[in-house]
Amino acid sequence: MLCRIWSIWMDSGQSHESVKGACYSCELFSGWSPAQAIQSPSSPWIEITRGIVITNASSRKAELQQDFGTDPVEMRDTDHYQKEYVHRFVDKWDELINWDARYASEGDFFIRLLKERGAKRILDVAAGIGFHSVRLVEAGFEVCSVDGSAEMLAKAFDNGRRRGHILRTIQADWRWLNRDVHASYDAVICLGNSFTHLFSESDRRKALAEFYAVLKHDGCLILDQRNYDAMLDNEFSTQHKFYYCGKQVSAEPEHMDEGLARFRYTFPDDSVYHLNMFPLRRDYTRRLMQEVGFQKISTYADFEEDTRQDDPDFFIHVAEKKYLASEDDTLNVSETTNLDKETV
Ligand code: SAM
Repeated sequence: MLCRIWSIWMDSGQSHESVKGACYSCELFSGWSPAQAIQSPSSPWIEITRGIVITNASSRKAELQQDFGTDPVEMRDTDHYQKEYVHRFVDKWDELINWDARYASEGDFFIRLLKERGAKRILDVAAGIGFHSVRLVEAGFEVCSVDGSAEMLAKAFDNGRRRGHILRTIQADWRWLNRDVHASYDAVICLGNSFTHLFSESDRRKALAEFYAVLKHDGCLILDQRNYDAMLDNEFSTQHKFYYCGKQVSAEPEHMDEGLARFRYTFPDDSVYHLNMFPLRRDYTRRLMQEVGFQKISTYADFEEDTRQDDPDFFIHVAEKKYLASEDDTLNVSETTNLDKETV
């Protein structure tokens, strides 16, 4: 009999009919014949179907070390994010992002943005360890958590469970989002400097088009990014004061050029991990959003709406899908004096 939620895993070579399972809610463990588990052809080793998680334990164990090849600064491949979020790094991500400090620094910024737009159903497409999914569930939103990394999604699920929530999760790559996500949402959030993982323009356009498609007709996309302009133009002057709040962890750019931002993360036990990302320029991201069909793009600097900052850490773009057919293009320019909140 199914209790609230089962974690089901397959060892290598096992068929889908002979998986083992454990109930997260009552800790029961048993062999299980998962007649109700539907394995997604596109996501062979993790999916939740009516509260059932399927993970392939052996695949997860296999990825313990990061591997950037012989010349790490030449690794500029969108698909490589899967290999960067290895189990040990993901396990440490909670140290990198201190939940309480992050709650405090963000305040209710995203909650306000969503409520102002009447959003109720949210798709968190870069769930990571589940920080925003949990935050939004606790604020009363209906949330579905998506990530392309099974490691991250498993961590998100676990973090949610520890805080008393059963997160609804789907493993999906943004570039094929609508193949795996079959509902529509009032808002898509892509936070924590995640979009930067896409290395080619066609991948970025495809992902944005998929976000656009999964939104209701008047939905919005909230997507943030580091201030790479400052890093590219001012030699890494930007510090990590908002998002990476774990005090014992350092997160610094190790290499920057127009095609690569390579970050080094050093933990108190001296372990070191890296992420290779594409340094999105602020106006480039805004232009792409507009070109895939978003009608109005407002950009905030850090979490401030009203004050101008010269050197913010992060930009947060709010892209609205609601069609502005009758508006003259010239009216589409912000009339406010707040230069940090411009309108395309
Ligand atoms: N949003 C979280 C936060 O703010 O803590 C996590 C951010 S983490 C930096 C980026 C996440 O994006 C990772 O969990 C990664 O697996 C996911 N990701 C990167 N590229 C992706 C893609 N093409 N499709 C789906 N997820 C992707």
